Amino acid sequence: MPTVTYRCTNCLDHTLTREYDVSHFSIRCPNCGEFARFVHGGVLEQYEAFEESPPAELDWGRLGRMEKLVVAEKLVRQGKTLDDFEVEVDDGA
Ligand SMILES: [Zn+2]
Repeated sequence: MPTVTYRCTNCLDHTLTREYDVSHFSIRCPNCGEFARFVHGGVLEQYEAFEESPPAELDWGRLGRMEKLVVAEKLVRQGKTLDDFEVEVDDGA
């Protein structure tokens, strides 16, 4: 049975493995004690890779943390590519 690793987005330290593949789930983290969101490990890796070197196709730095995770999730789990994203930058209009 393949398992998926999920990481706590609060402490970024604790990982849990589950036999199902979802983008994230929320549970009380046994490490930091927060009721935290655990994000799919592959999604978080993609997120961190973009934090290290932002993709040219996206205005990565302007996205919020959750938006970034959503983009990473779509790339990793839904087979999207960067071309699928139209990032609408709202310049305060
Ligand atoms: Zn935690």
